[in-house]
Amino acid sequence: MKNRKLLMIPGPIEFTPDVLRAMGMPTTSHVAANFIEVFGQALEDLRKVFLAPSGQPFVVPGSGTLAMDMAAANLIERGDQALVVNSGYFSDRFAKILERYGAVVTHVHGRTVGDAPPLSEVEAALQAIRPKVMTITHVDTSTAVATNVRELSALGRKHEALVIVDGVCATAGEEMRQDEWGIDLALTASQKAIGVPPGLAIVVAGLRAMEAFRKRTTPVGSFYADWTEWLPIMQSYEGRKPSYFATPAVNLVWALNVSLKGILSEGMDARFARHRRMSGAFKAGIGALGLKQLPVRTDLLATTLSAVYYPQGVDKGMLKYIDEAGVIVAGGLHPAVRDQYFRVGHMGAVTGADILATIGAIESGLKRSGYKFEVGTGLAAAQAALEGLSQM
Ligand SMILES: *Cc1c(COP(=O)(O)O)cnc(C)c1O
Repeated sequence: MKNRKLLMIPGPIEFTPDVLRAMGMPTTSHVAANFIEVFGQALEDLRKVFLAPSGQPFVVPGSGTLAMDMAAANLIERGDQALVVNSGYFSDRFAKILERYGAVVTHVHGRTVGDAPPLSEVEAALQAIRPKVMTITHVDTSTAVATNVRELSALGRKHEALVIVDGVCATAGEEMRQDEWGIDLALTASQKAIGVPPGLAIVVAGLRAMEAFRKRTTPVGSFYADWTEWLPIMQSYEGRKPSYFATPAVNLVWALNVSLKGILSEGMDARFARHRRMSGAFKAGIGALGLKQLPVRTDLLATTLSAVYYPQGVDKGMLKYIDEAGVIVAGGLHPAVRDQYFRVGHMGAVTGADILATIGAIESGLKRSGYKFEVGTGLAAAQAALEGLSQM
């Protein structure tokens, strides 16, 4: 019997065997020729995964929060105006980080939990405050709301804001084309759709972001996050030369290189399409079971995860039953509705079999929670969606 459960949370996700093997390799020196080559390749491949041919990648030991911190530390100077397109929990976090570096933050909120701010209100705020930076959370992990990054970025550009996208729960899963869409800085963490165990903060900064950094008149307020230190390191590794500022997470970088190669061999368009298909099948399954999702409109549905309300009479006790059926899902996160819903991540190497196993485990949890439904309806709908059949 396999002594493990299927991990279907919005990060860490299930990692592929080749990525895990790279984690288990004997650790080399961070200046060994073979590691320099691997790090160099990973930096080059990140540009392709972010679809940012003109971008400058940074890969630093840390989590997604460090990537956010790095963006704010290097681009904000005291008194700068910042606009936070606020779609939930992690947008609030970005605001706090920006404020820590002295930004004056304005929020534009969606009307309710599960909504994103309307474009017209974002544009009005851009006109009113003329911010230096604007942050967008691509997928809010607390609500499974995806924002319209393409349109929002175009608005930010139009009003000369530096556009920062928190793609921690999105990049390499949700469609994002950094250069084409005018995104000045995109960031993520290793453990979500990039498919590498937790521990790497990943940032790709565009030309305008690097220029804004160079034009700073005050020093960066964080020693560890300062691009003054990290830029020469990234340039050295990419130029296949040894250098040192702080020890890279050698095995994680090795695993990142393996994962990026896998992502690129699938192809970005195929990968985005697979995420849409997996998400569609999962959402068809829970819809057929009569369960409702947090996002208030279909155009807001993320493809990397789903946030699902418990039906009437069912509560978070169901999570234990889902676990006993072999699948780990996540509880609620958004404080306003925390105990009313659960979250399921379906990103990275996720397969149709994973989706069916998860819907099956949710059916088991619903049944044991006393919910009345016809067992198998969710599975049939998910299966039909995976096969591309029209719904009954
Ligand atoms: C997970 C997540 C973060 C935080 O990343 P950590 O690795 O937990 O620090 C930030 N933003 C979004 C959208 C996330 O999903």
